[in-house]
Amino acid sequence: MADEIPRVLGGRYEVGELIGRGGMAEVHIGYDSRLSRTVAIKVLRSDLARDATFQARFRREAQSSAALNHPSIVAVYDTGEEAVADPHGNKIAVPFIVMEYVEGHTVRDLLAGGDPVPIDEAAEIVVGVLSALEYSHREGIVHRDIKPGNIMLSPTGQVKVMDFGIARAMADSAATMTQTHAVIGTAQYLSPEQARGEVVDARSDLYSTGCLLFELLTGQPPFSGDSAVAVAYQHVRETPRTPSMITPDVPEVLDRVVLKSLAKDRDDRYTDAAHMRSDLLAAVRGGQVEAPAAAAWVAAAAAPTTVLSGGQGATATGTMPASGAAAAAEAPAEEDRRSRWWIWLLALLGLAAAAGITYLVLNQTEEPPTEPAMVTVPDMTGMDQVDARQELDSAGLQASIQDPRPSDEVEEGLFLSSDPPVGQRVEEGTTVQLVFSSGPETVQVPDMIGMSQEQARAALDEAGLNFGGEETGEAPDLEPGTVMAASPPVGEAVEPGTDVTLTIVGETVQLPDLTGMPEEEALAQLESLDLNSSTQEQESGDFEPGTVLEQSHPPGIIERGTTVTLTIAVAPPEDPTDEPTDEPTDEPTDEPTDTETTDDGGGGNNGGGNNNGGGDNTGDGGGGGGG
Ligand code: ATP
Ligand code: MG
Repeated sequence: MADEIPRVLGGRYEVGELIGRGGMAEVHIGYDSRLSRTVAIKVLRSDLARDATFQARFRREAQSSAALNHPSIVAVYDTGEEAVADPHGNKIAVPFIVMEYVEGHTVRDLLAGGDPVPIDEAAEIVVGVLSALEYSHREGIVHRDIKPGNIMLSPTGQVKVMDFGIARAMADSAATMTQTHAVIGTAQYLSPEQARGEVVDARSDLYSTGCLLFELLTGQPPFSGDSAVAVAYQHVRETPRTPSMITPDVPEVLDRVVLKSLAKDRDDRYTDAAHMRSDLLAAVRGGQVEAPAAAAWVAAAAAPTTVLSGGQGATATGTMPASGAAAAAEAPAEEDRRSRWWIWLLALLGLAAAAGITYLVLNQTEEPPTEPAMVTVPDMTGMDQVDARQELDSAGLQASIQDPRPSDEVEEGLFLSSDPPVGQRVEEGTTVQLVFSSGPETVQVPDMIGMSQEQARAALDEAGLNFGGEETGEAPDLEPGTVMAASPPVGEAVEPGTDVTLTIVGETVQLPDLTGMPEEEALAQLESLDLNSSTQEQESGDFEPGTVLEQSHPPGIIERGTTVTLTIAVAPPEDPTDEPTDEPTDEPTDEPTDTETTDDGGGGNNGGGNNNGGGDNTGDGGGGGGG
């Protein structure tokens, strides 16, 4: 994949070695030749570049990141798209992001060993993340994917949050946040509302940050399981352990901060990043914290009122855990009822969890039809450009017509293929590239006239055509044995593999009937037929003097180069006075004589012309005439 990426992107970014690989992109070190600085270049994986949904995600990431300018956020310098040819020679647009190059490592690397991070360091990292979130939330952007892999630590300890990958302006999140994103986020740090496919807000990022803090303090994420669904299930319903249960030296106040940020109901979490940060700092410094005792959350999870009220009920006092615990403690004596309560409670919890899982499973297999921003690329089979455009338009998609491609199956001018393909779910407004058929693929019969048979066969081969046999024809002006014609004819567009018959200049010609033809014309004909000639004279009263009285070979097939002897008529000597008298008397009136001669010649020519015609006809139907 990496070698498919051009060496220079956008005409100025030199692509260097691969420094990281994520779910949808490759990250390379790079060099901005215009500003002479090192950069990091994130290039969408080329196998995904084809996919409109991923392209849209990537662009969105680029746009939301570029708007953010904060020391704890990896700066996005530039974005672009590079046209790259895939192995089939099709052009695909590969989007890329040019960003600040962060030396150092990710928090994922830091946690790779599974050991807790010293409390001060953990707090420092989380404080950095919270300041980045405080800023981005103020800008209306929710990160949605806070996780160790998206946080880098510079050698000087600077925290850099990157990949506002699935972030989207909060403004439109309420309207369009869909279950799709639940799948995108990493299940390990997924907030309960993301797991349930609900609207995401700034507090969802605080939940993920709570997970981060948990893992930094303990070396393990709050929930783990065999599958994404198993983990998500726990995010939705299980109360996490306190960090101190795993790492005993974590102070109780820090437990409080972690558990408050991990509240199932976001109304119970910190209202914003700034509050979480100040509580965290207070906890680390050993001061008072806003967060309730960790035990309250365990009790809250067990309390029926809390669970049943879910999101709506919690607003009454804002101290839901405490009131929930109180409610649970209200019926101490009624053992029977209480146990029945528990049965009900478990049943309801089971239902709620099942609903959550159903959501997740649905999200992972197919996207719900209710998603407003996604549409399906319609089937445009059998449609021409006008109809296909209309069809896309009514599906809420844009059309971009590409060069036509040949097809044996699809009639010329009709829809052949699209990218993204028919049936794919894409974002509304996506541009769909349409390819229409140019009909069956054709090649031109090459010009082989005058070629030797060997050359002609090679030319056919090169054009992807078959040699379909040969016939012999007459073309006295061409060398015998060379090609004089092809069928289908030279220049015709035909399907590859078509049989082409060659007409080869033969060794014979068709000798026409030359009798009655003026001598000169007959000689010219013989010459044009590649025949030799000789003449002799014979007196004749029947033939015009100077015309052919007889030919040595009968009309019909004759070998080229044969000498044909013509017998030319001369006037009989019966009235010898006429001519001598005529000639002297007519001397001054040369012109009439000339005219007469010309007339004669003309008549002869006409006759010859007819003869010629006859000869040609015979020649054309050579085979028949010959037989
Ligand atoms: P996901 O695709 O789920 O976001 P990810 O965050 O691990 O997973 P990428 O964002 O593609 O994937 O990043 C891959 C790796 O590239 C990172 O883990 C990091 O090591 C490196 N990296 C990313 N951006 C930069 C950067 N600006 N400077 C230095 N290294 C970076
Ligand atoms: Mg990332």
